[in-house]
Amino acid sequence: MFENKDESRTSISSLGEFGLIDHLTEHFKITRKSTKIGIGDDAAVLDFDAKKQVVVTTDLLIEGVHFDLSYMPLKHLGYKAVMVNLSDVYAMNAEATQITVSIAVSNRFPIEALEELYAGIQAASEVYKIDVIGGDTSSSTSGLVISITAIGLVDEDKVTKRSTAKEGDLLVVSGDLGAAYLGLQVLEREKQVFKVNPNSQPDLEKYTYLVERQLKPEARRDITLLLKEIEVLPTSMIDISDGLSSEVIHICKQSKVGCNLYEDKIPLDPQVISTCEEFNMDSTTIALSGGEDYELLFTVKQEDFIKIKANPHFSIIGHMTNESEGIHLITRANTKIQLIARGWNALDEEK
Ligand code: ADP
Ligand code: MG
Repeated sequence: MFENKDESRTSISSLGEFGLIDHLTEHFKITRKSTKIGIGDDAAVLDFDAKKQVVVTTDLLIEGVHFDLSYMPLKHLGYKAVMVNLSDVYAMNAEATQITVSIAVSNRFPIEALEELYAGIQAASEVYKIDVIGGDTSSSTSGLVISITAIGLVDEDKVTKRSTAKEGDLLVVSGDLGAAYLGLQVLEREKQVFKVNPNSQPDLEKYTYLVERQLKPEARRDITLLLKEIEVLPTSMIDISDGLSSEVIHICKQSKVGCNLYEDKIPLDPQVISTCEEFNMDSTTIALSGGEDYELLFTVKQEDFIKIKANPHFSIIGHMTNESEGIHLITRANTKIQLIARGWNALDEEK
């Protein structure tokens, strides 16, 4: 689990930059018809169906800021780096089709480490049916930097923006919330234990779901397909990367609506509830502010209530109100608390 110093190490310089790119990408296959030229030329060439619109999104991941290699296996990091980007593509209701991958690495990484990283990227691209069509490779004086750009396709009239929620719409979230953040807390705690006693083996049995949500998140492509199948087009959509409350606020501000969000409707996994009790944390605060859930948050018209309610993948957690009513959490005790971007403050309680 923690960094193993004994594995065999081959230095990057033994291959050279071009040899390295060839080596890392040799198993990548092109599967999309729209990919005309992939890795190997000066630029990739894509040819899309002219009736669709193209979405493009980029994320930058920096060692020490966005990930910690002492508990993040490189294969998982590669997988997660792709998920972070695909999640944004799916939040636009698009089908992800291609990615580019750029990395900057210091010579403390052996080729074996980069092979792991690329194995994760390849696994993600196979599961999510995307082509890796290029990137850039550079040396870095400090840590590892990964930048991924994802490309997707969507029908013009199916794009789900943040700015188009309407008063009266229902607020819906996929899956459950808070687990990835708690997984990080569990891993941080194990890291501290490991520092004091390097012979200790982490006991993560009780936290398997939490750790998996942190180390191997899945972008909700399945949700976009399910929505299509049940013929529900969200009136707005966003992916949950920073925590429920900040995403709700994004939709409200950009759509110029208010919101009532119900605390008792927020979906929580049993492991989130039990671990919050153990860590003496408030599960609502974790769900609201935890982040990295990569679930989809969206609004639907009231007439879609039946279709959404019948499906176990969805939770209806609130409704949109007039902008003048503000953005509130209705607690279990039936008090109204103003939602703020970083958690909620009981002092804001309204009479
Ligand atoms: P240039 O000098 O024109 O930037 P490179 O030598 O960097 O070209 O890249 C050669 C080819 O390899 C290009 O197709 C590029 O997109 C691809 N490539 C470079 N680095 C990576 C990487 N880290 N992952 C995937 N493809 C890469
Ligand atoms: Mg280059």
